[in-house]
Amino acid sequence: MEDKILIFGHKNPDTDSICSSMVMEKFDKNLGFNVEAVRLGNVNKETQYVLNYLGIEAPRLIEKVNEGQKVVLVDHNEFNQSADGIENSIIETVVDHHRIADFKTKEPLYYRAEPVGCTATILYKKFKEENMKIEKKEAVLMSSSIISDTLLLKSPTTTEYDKNALKELAEIAQIDVNTYGIDMLKAGTDLADFSAEQLINIDAKSFEKNGHKFAIAQVNTVDISDVLKRKDELKDAIGKEIQKQNLELFVLAITDVLNSSSEILSYGQNEKIVEKAFNGSLENNTMFLEGVVSRKKQLLPKIEDCF
Ligand code: MN
Ligand code: MN
Repeated sequence: MEDKILIFGHKNPDTDSICSSMVMEKFDKNLGFNVEAVRLGNVNKETQYVLNYLGIEAPRLIEKVNEGQKVVLVDHNEFNQSADGIENSIIETVVDHHRIADFKTKEPLYYRAEPVGCTATILYKKFKEENMKIEKKEAVLMSSSIISDTLLLKSPTTTEYDKNALKELAEIAQIDVNTYGIDMLKAGTDLADFSAEQLINIDAKSFEKNGHKFAIAQVNTVDISDVLKRKDELKDAIGKEIQKQNLELFVLAITDVLNSSSEILSYGQNEKIVEKAFNGSLENNTMFLEGVVSRKKQLLPKIEDCF
C-alpha cells in the first residue's frame, strides 16, 4: 500500500480537478500502475451533479501528503494550490493546462502541459495516443470537465482540441451536450445556502501589481438579478474583506453561464479603475460586461493593466 501513487487536483476542487483525477486513475490503472484518485477539498454542487448522474462516490478526502509519497498532479502545478507537504513528496507526473509557477522537483518527472481549455482534453488525447478504449463513465467525467471549464465551449479559453474532444466524448457518454451541460451548470449555481461572506469567497483570488493589492472573485449564476438582490449584504462582506486584506480594489464578477456575460461589483479606494479597464461607467458600483466570462483571460489582464 505504501507504494500506491495518489492522484489529485487543486485545493478548493472544481469539476475538472475531481473528474480528471478519476479519469487519470483509470488511465494509469489500465497501464498497470497502483494508483488512487483523492481530493483536497469539498465537492461542489456542480461536481456532485456529475457524481449523482453516474451514481458514484467522490474520491477520498486527504488533508496532506506524507514525506516520500508518490503523487500525480492534475489541473494544477503551483504548490500553494496543492496538498500540504507537497514539497516533500515525489511528483511523478503532472497533467495540466495552467501557467507553470513555483514548481520544482528533486527527481525527473513526466510533465504534460498544454494551453487548452481543460485538463480532461489532454487526458482525452492521452487515451487516443495509447489506443485505449474510453468507457462511458470516463466519457461522462471528461465531458463534464470540458463543459465546466469552458462554460459549454463559450469561454475564450476554449480551443479546437476541447471542441473535438467534447464532440466525441459526448457520443460515447450518450449525453446531449446542451441539455446535460445546462443542467450541470445550473446545479452549480444554487447559491441560496451561502452567506455573503461565503459567496464572495467561493472563488476569490488576490493579486498584486506594482504594489497595488486587489482581488477578483467570481460566482456563476443563471440569473444575475437574483444575486444582485443581495447587493447590500455583498457590499458589507466585500468591505470587510478589503479591510482584512488591505486591498485597494475588490471586484466581484457575477457571471451568467447561459448568456456568457457578467455584471461586476467594484468596491475599494480604486473602484473607479474598472471604468477605465472596461471603457464604461459604474452605476451604484455595478457595471454590465457583455461577453465577459473569464477571469484569467478577460478580467485580470485589463484590470492589471490599469495599475
Ligand atoms: Mn481547476
Ligand atoms: Mn481545469
